[in-house]
Amino acid sequence: MVIVDFMPNSKAMSEQDITFDRELIRRFDVNGPRYTSYPTADRFVEAFTASHYEHWLSQRGRITPSRPLSLYVHIPFCPTICYYCACNKIITKDHGRSAKYLSYLGKEMDKVLHHLAGGKEVSQLHWGGGSPSFLADEEMRLLMDMIRDRFTLSPDGEYSIEVDPRNVSEATVALLAGLGFNRMSIGIQDFSPDVQKAVNRIQSLEETQRVMNAARESGFKSISVDLMYGLPKQDVISFNYTLDEVIKLDPDRLSVYNYAHVPNQAKAQRRINTADLPSADEKLQILQRTIRRLTEAGYVFIGMDHFAKPTDELAIAQRQGLLHRNFQGYSTHAEADLLALGVSAIGKMGPSYVQNVRILEDYYNLLDQGSLPVLRGIQLTADDLLRRSIIQSLMCHFALPIESIEIAHLIDFKSYFVAELADLSAMEEDGLVTVTDQWITVNPSGRLLVRAIAMVFDRYLRSDRERIRYSKVI
Ligand code: SF4
Repeated sequence: MVIVDFMPNSKAMSEQDITFDRELIRRFDVNGPRYTSYPTADRFVEAFTASHYEHWLSQRGRITPSRPLSLYVHIPFCPTICYYCACNKIITKDHGRSAKYLSYLGKEMDKVLHHLAGGKEVSQLHWGGGSPSFLADEEMRLLMDMIRDRFTLSPDGEYSIEVDPRNVSEATVALLAGLGFNRMSIGIQDFSPDVQKAVNRIQSLEETQRVMNAARESGFKSISVDLMYGLPKQDVISFNYTLDEVIKLDPDRLSVYNYAHVPNQAKAQRRINTADLPSADEKLQILQRTIRRLTEAGYVFIGMDHFAKPTDELAIAQRQGLLHRNFQGYSTHAEADLLALGVSAIGKMGPSYVQNVRILEDYYNLLDQGSLPVLRGIQLTADDLLRRSIIQSLMCHFALPIESIEIAHLIDFKSYFVAELADLSAMEEDGLVTVTDQWITVNPSGRLLVRAIAMVFDRYLRSDRERIRYSKVI
């Protein structure tokens, strides 16, 4: 895939670069993909099997010999459940389960390496979940040893871990730094006691502060925190208190996610009392206040729901036109082949995506049978690659250089995207974008809605809409 790396008119966002237009947000902020991949995971097919994955693993060295590896390790266990959670996790207090899981991660690594061609140098590592900090200290040490025995972690790599302050001591934070982790991501969501009670996640300011201090003392380069708006019992005033405390904690990056209440899909959410949820209008007020507070505090709006200090690598990469988007959200790392390990993990190898089975027993059984534990995946077509470049460019740089796309993908943009340009012209009338012969630029009032703009180029969503329209007509 060709990613347009250098964008002369790409620039970091500042407070003035975002226009909060409530009416436009109401009209255009539909539920849609976050585009951590394109095509999105719901388009993956089971016709893509372990043998397809093996094929792309074995092709790696031939197509992109120098492309680095990114490793994602999914640890599915959590000791308690947060009611808002829609992740693939296993709630257990039985630490005996993680020992077995680690041994199967080892089996999966060996199986992957058996087929993997090309170098084994890793420039990016992420442990996510679930709660990676569910693992005991000696298990974390063991897992890192397993990785280092099989791969080469480059000295200047980006090594991150999701940490739950409720179950991590200062000594564990120091251990993580000693293992090589240099970035930490901490879930907060909200500090208000009423909200914490309503979502079953009681996490004090003090324990969060303690873990962040320990991370800084141990030499972690960047600390990122997650907040969530739209949770039960939340309102503008209560969330303002959370923002006060979070700004004092001084994280390097922040993600502020919109809570989507989908109890039919996420069972845990059935324990949330719908009557306690803030109204759509209140949610918009919370978002508006959040953006104002964070930009006033000096954070740069990166895009979607991400903020970073101007000195953070993410903000610098955006200024330099070197920002990328992957399964962890925004990233400074160029195209890497992503090896994803563990139950439900999603990886990317050459022009393909692959996802592991979601059920733990299936994961163990397939590995016992000597098979890679693949559930589904997709092999990208030339059209997918083209649209992925466009969506990446819009999401990361708020701009699309038309000529570069034409040259890289050998198309005539205007004739290839007749329908898309027609849709964009409606958005242009509302001031969300500006379209010229050379550039598509997302304007300040469109930046909070960049997902809706990217959706215009999503062929799968377009075909869904066509199908619905067609079935209505007949
Ligand atoms: S939000 Fe995180 S800690 Fe809570 S249940 Fe989900 S994965 Fe576990």
